[in-house]
Amino acid sequence: MRRAVFLDRDGVINEDRPDYVKSVAELKVFSFAPECIRKLNSAGFEVYVISNQQCVGKGIVSRAALHEIECEIERLVGRKGGKINGFYYCTHLANQECECRKPKPGLLLQAAREHNLDLQSSFMIGDSEKDVTAGHRAGCRTVVVLTGAVTAEDVSEFVAQPDFIARDLVDAVNYVLAVCKSEMEADT
Ligand SMILES: [Mg+2]
Ligand SMILES: [Zn+2]
Repeated sequence: MRRAVFLDRDGVINEDRPDYVKSVAELKVFSFAPECIRKLNSAGFEVYVISNQQCVGKGIVSRAALHEIECEIERLVGRKGGKINGFYYCTHLANQECECRKPKPGLLLQAAREHNLDLQSSFMIGDSEKDVTAGHRAGCRTVVVLTGAVTAEDVSEFVAQPDFIARDLVDAVNYVLAVCKSEMEADT
């Protein structure tokens, strides 16, 4: 079984914006994100993006634009030698009560099924309570980053608490790698 790091997109890999990232022109990938993903690959993690994009369901962003944004993220990550193994989106509206919109764990469970991932040894990194809850429900460990929707004070009010609060994705990846290392040492 393989282990994965699931990454939320907006607020984790790229800057979020209140009116949705609608095009490649509006996409601002954090300068540190590609290298972070490469480091996870090197440590033996597969990397999946797990993202709610109800802007598609609302008709604000087309599927084509969503795909172009995905390709641009892949290009930037690839340039640093990193690889994202898959992108999973919920494009339903919040009121459609689908099984995939975070905080439901549907997208993580689907990725795990399709790629034979061991959820217990995987991590979810996000910037909102929805991400943390989805990760918890899927049986992953969770990290929240402070480069998006929430402050450390907001996190203290989450019902499901993350295993770690990270300044940004750099800090989050360092945490994941440190946990891995200590588990490997405990194994030997
Ligand atoms: Mg987000
Ligand atoms: Zn959905």
